[in-house]
Amino acid sequence: MFGYRCKKCGKLHHPARLVCDKCGGREFAEEVLDGEGTLLTYTRVYNLPAGIDKSQLDFGIVEMREGVRVSAQLDVKGEVETGMKLKATEGVVRVMNGVEHRGFIFVDAD
Ligand SMILES: [Zn+2]
Repeated sequence: MFGYRCKKCGKLHHPARLVCDKCGGREFAEEVLDGEGTLLTYTRVYNLPAGIDKSQLDFGIVEMREGVRVSAQLDVKGEVETGMKLKATEGVVRVMNGVEHRGFIFVDAD
């Protein structure tokens, strides 16, 4: 997982963007994130779009240790609770017309 640090003001972004929302800078340096963070909030979705073969799914916003916020699917073992420690893994988030789409999925940190 990568973050993108503005070369002008130092603000870290995820995902990558063309223009820094803090200073308007347009140059970024790629930075490796360690993948661990804290769950800020989440939503449980029951009516899922085609290509997701599950009856329900949790989507969360995770504040990474580096301070940047990432939204992604959650796949924790027990109950989802805000404030829990999570880590990013990569996996299949959706299958469309037989093609697997990969993305980040947050799981329990320990
Ligand atoms: Zn900036």
